[in-house]
Amino acid sequence: MFIRCENLVKIYKLVDDAELMALQGLDVEIAEGEMVGIVGASGSGKSTLMNVLGGLIQPTAGSVIVNGRPLLKLTEPQLDRYRRDEVGFVWQQSTRNLIPWLNALENVEYPMLMAGKSRQQARERATELLTLVDLEERMSHHIEMMSGGEQSRVAIAIALANNPSLLLADEPTGELDTRTAQLIYDLFRQLNRDLNLTTLIVSHDPGIARHVDRVISIRDGKLAGETIRSRPKPNSPDDNDKGDNNSEEEAEERFEELTVLDGTGRLQIPEEMRDEFGLVRRVRLERTDEGVLIKPIDQASSSENQPTKEIDAKQSPTSDKEGGRLRRWLRGDEG
Ligand code: ADP
Ligand code: MG
Repeated sequence: MFIRCENLVKIYKLVDDAELMALQGLDVEIAEGEMVGIVGASGSGKSTLMNVLGGLIQPTAGSVIVNGRPLLKLTEPQLDRYRRDEVGFVWQQSTRNLIPWLNALENVEYPMLMAGKSRQQARERATELLTLVDLEERMSHHIEMMSGGEQSRVAIAIALANNPSLLLADEPTGELDTRTAQLIYDLFRQLNRDLNLTTLIVSHDPGIARHVDRVISIRDGKLAGETIRSRPKPNSPDDNDKGDNNSEEEAEERFEELTVLDGTGRLQIPEEMRDEFGLVRRVRLERTDEGVLIKPIDQASSSENQPTKEIDAKQSPTSDKEGGRLRRWLRGDEG
């Protein structure tokens, strides 16, 4: 595994001694050369994960191994080297860090000159990088004269300057229109293939699954689910023969949303399913021929389930009576 996060926890200390648990025991594995999308509501911990993987913040607990390096155990100089040699970043609004009055070439050269490269080395590498992101015709254009998509390409070229093995992009297409975003995803894919670049892209775009190998979704600082591309099974062995009439069907991609088990066997059942099937607090697991069935407990007949039922009833506006009983029960007035 190129990246392995186990039980990753990140707690931010807030001003008034309060704490915020941004990652709550996250388990993620990513193979070398894989291109993965990361989705999740705002505040679910996506950027925190990217910062941890980039070596920019230390997690509070758990383990992260990237390309054989245990990030929690690295010394400061080792972490510096990791950030410098191993990782490329495309940050949210990274185009704002470009210098508007310099041209594309100068913008890519600038960080390399700061890092001590000679003018000639920087020029050669910058030319190479801008060619890689399909901007060879636009190198002498000033940033302020470039479109949003072109500016993103310049930011990506800069991220690739150190020839990283891991590319982290945090909402790189957030400010682009759909068509331009599509082209940027295509570019990420091309770089992923040509450079064998393990690539993680945080996105709000629900359509990201089409552009990546796998999408992982994060909820409340934990891995909640995965979407994979599922290939339809071939109907018969002859399918490989010619079957031009099949190609259209084959081109149609299917996606399958999977739920993830953590290392201790816990899984999260989506809220819609819990609501639909009345899965509250306790459920019954039954073995069937196909697998494990998660069944609601028949609440009326289950006395042990009563407190849960009444808490539920309390939240319903039509059951004041039950709510009153619950309150009395909580006070201990009622057995
Ligand atoms: P996302 O990128 O999914 O929107 P973040 O990783 O940025 O989520 O944030 C996760 C949670 O951690 C949020 O509640 C956010 O407010 C909090 N958070 C992020 N960075 C910091 C920080 N430097 N200090 C304190 N809290 C933070
Ligand atoms: Mg974020």
